Amino acid sequence: MTSQEVRNQFLNFFKEKNHKIVPSAPMVMKDDPTLMFTNAGMNQFKEYFLGNSVPKSKRLTDTQKCLRVSGKHNDLEEVGKDTYHHTMFEMLGNWSIGDYFKKEAIAWAWELLTEVFKIDKESLYVSVFEGSEDDGLPLDQEAYDLWKAIVPENRIIKGNKKDNFWEMGDQGPCGPCSEIHVDIRPKEEKQKVDGASLVNQDHPQVVEIWNLVFMQFNRKANGSLEPLPEKHIDTGMGFERLCMVLQGKQSNYDTDVFTPLIREVEIITGKKYGKDEQTDIAIRVVADHVRAVAFSIADGQLPSNTGAGYVIRRILRRAIRYGFTFLDTNKPFIYRLVKVLGEQMGKAFPELKEQYQLIENVIKEEESSFLSTLEQGLVLLDSVINSSKDKTIAGDKAFELYDTFGFPIDLTALILEEKGYQLDTKGFEKALKAQKDRSRAASEVSKDDWNVLLTDAEQEFIGYDSLEANVKLVKYRKV
Ligand code: ATP
Ligand code: MG
Ligand code: MG
Ligand code: MG
Repeated sequence: MTSQEVRNQFLNFFKEKNHKIVPSAPMVMKDDPTLMFTNAGMNQFKEYFLGNSVPKSKRLTDTQKCLRVSGKHNDLEEVGKDTYHHTMFEMLGNWSIGDYFKKEAIAWAWELLTEVFKIDKESLYVSVFEGSEDDGLPLDQEAYDLWKAIVPENRIIKGNKKDNFWEMGDQGPCGPCSEIHVDIRPKEEKQKVDGASLVNQDHPQVVEIWNLVFMQFNRKANGSLEPLPEKHIDTGMGFERLCMVLQGKQSNYDTDVFTPLIREVEIITGKKYGKDEQTDIAIRVVADHVRAVAFSIADGQLPSNTGAGYVIRRILRRAIRYGFTFLDTNKPFIYRLVKVLGEQMGKAFPELKEQYQLIENVIKEEESSFLSTLEQGLVLLDSVINSSKDKTIAGDKAFELYDTFGFPIDLTALILEEKGYQLDTKGFEKALKAQKDRSRAASEVSKDDWNVLLTDAEQEFIGYDSLEANVKLVKYRKV
């Protein structure tokens, strides 16, 4: 089954159950101060859940472009290294806005996976929320009983708040959830180790595919939960992971969502995918990141030096550097993947085709400008590393790389991590602050909602954003 067919079958299944198919919201948020990028299908329906507005239909379904590179859901570090976390991915979902609840959501999810998609029941595990003392919530007995009627109890896992209580961010609609996991290991291995023990253990062949969230609370700014006016269903299924299962592959990158991109990288670079782990990581990073960047540009978010634009620039520079170091690319090449991506995804997301020329030009331009300093910067970094006596790199050196060569701090941290070195993050922050203080113009320059690492008194503290190698950047919102 092609990925196109998988997407259509999902949507049609719910259409037949009286759901209205709606388009994906943009991936880049423009008017939500609590979120920079769409990180789940439910974001665009938040106001419905809160009871602030009323949808045209109480049953909705779609595929949502998501990006998980900042905030509560940040997968950037994993991407390329594992085979099932992406920066940008599609989340298939069905919603009930104050209509059906757990019973139908569970029954339909099971019907779709086992009867329509014909996934072997023996390879599926489900989970329920065990409860949480912090929030004074008990075990989700209702979900447990509903699952017990369809799956053997040894396939039902009780999960903690981290895995089985879904929250969009620090605030907003949330609730207990049931996740569906699939075990794609070969038979012999399944006999050796019980799949139930591998659920939620970061095992690349026992992966979560679908999350059914029973939306019934709103997390307030002070951390407390209040019941929502009505109960809702919010589900999210990882499209690329579903394709992996249905196409009988062991990695999302072996599905037709990624193979055309990977083939193109092979043609351009002369490298082969599947021969050497470091090369493979680099190829996966490039194939993944070009999607994130292309979709952002199509949504109107260009790479820039602040806010969401800087996140996009960081992602692209990460890909450029992986290409340069591990695929021996010293001239722009990532932009050449945009055409392939358009052919692959343009039908489902016409904005990619419509904005094709712009996307290509912007990526090519970014590549040229970063490549022109990347080599010099890497040479400088090497010399800094060689002269370091204690495996730690001073913050002002990292700042020089950032300031003169455009190395995002997380890129520096990533390179250092690969070489077994550490970064003096505090020193970097100090150097950055000193520069900001000198120019005192940083906050006027920024046109975005978000600024990184500004300590201007006029800005309200929002929270920490965990980046690669545990570099913590303090995030402020302009007030
Ligand atoms: P995981 O535990 O694998 O990180 P999650 O619990 O963070 O996933 P949810 O927030 O429940 O994910 O999102 C719903 C679904 O979206 C998941 O079941 C998974 O199939 C998919 N998904 C989540 N994060 C990613 C990602 N970074 N790349 C691809 N698919 C993802
Ligand atoms: Mg996750
Ligand atoms: Mg999970
Ligand atoms: Mg989940």
